[in-house]
Amino acid sequence: MDVYGLIGNPVAHSVSPGLHETAYEVRGLDARYVTLETDPERLDQAIEGAAALGIDGLNVTIPFKEAVMEVVDPSETAASIGAVNMIDFSTDPPTGDNTDAAGARRALERHGVDPGAGTAVIVGAGGAARAIGHMLVSAGATVHIANRTASRAESLASDLGGTGHSLDVVPELAAGSDLLINATSVGMEEDRSPVSASVFHEDLAVMDAVYTPLETRFLQDGSAAGATTIDGAWMLLYQGVAAFERWTGVEAPVSAMNEALRNRLESEWSES
Ligand code: NAP
Repeated sequence: MDVYGLIGNPVAHSVSPGLHETAYEVRGLDARYVTLETDPERLDQAIEGAAALGIDGLNVTIPFKEAVMEVVDPSETAASIGAVNMIDFSTDPPTGDNTDAAGARRALERHGVDPGAGTAVIVGAGGAARAIGHMLVSAGATVHIANRTASRAESLASDLGGTGHSLDVVPELAAGSDLLINATSVGMEEDRSPVSASVFHEDLAVMDAVYTPLETRFLQDGSAAGATTIDGAWMLLYQGVAAFERWTGVEAPVSAMNEALRNRLESEWSES
């Protein structure tokens, strides 16, 4: 049996086991996906132990995405982003990659949005913004970053090759843009948006990284203005698809994974 999993702290509420195990079942693979809550002081030992135990692949979440770079061999993409969210143990040393970037790219493409065409505004300057921004700049887009802490936006923009701003410039930036992405945690389990409803227009594609709820205030405001909207579950789905395909070499059953993920997110949200 192949064993995959997620290291982080906490990991108990992750949707990844359901996402991956649906794919194993549909493809008839003898594999399991387990959550492994890891002692923050013992990350090195955890990775060495996983390799010694023959674990085939691990996803990596908070608080280890940056620190794990020291323990694995990061791919060019992961090194440029400065964060690893998946480890492939088929190499020695294990390879670290970042599938959040691929997840965001495939989420846009699935909705007919060319990530390299036009101008994008990313709201936020944390890990998600870094992965999405790297992908957009690599694809050829012009990227503006706006963040509550403007100095973080400027620093990320200078790393990526874009421009950095405070949040109050978003209306002006969005007016001349094709794509607006929320990569802050604002809207997660709350009815709030990081930008005012007046920034949206019908020529915008609007994507949210937040996926609880699926219909965030940010996306509701975008939809009301006639924008194309892409919820956070699409990026989450496709980062899982990218990891599954990398680990197993098998084409992912995207529809079944999407259905399982949405069922889980919707039932969790209706219970909360
Ligand atoms: P992070 O590194 O902690 O960054 C958080 C960002 O949110 C920062 O830019 C921060 O601004 C901003 N922020 C927080 N509270 C704010 C507020 N009250 N007003 C304005 N801005 C605020 O987090 P992350 O890892 O980038 O994750 C961001 C979100 O993306 C989370 O909801 C996460 O679940 C989601 N995400 C989704 C996927 C997916 O596959 N869909 C993948 C990765 C992450 P400051 O710099 O000013 O603090």
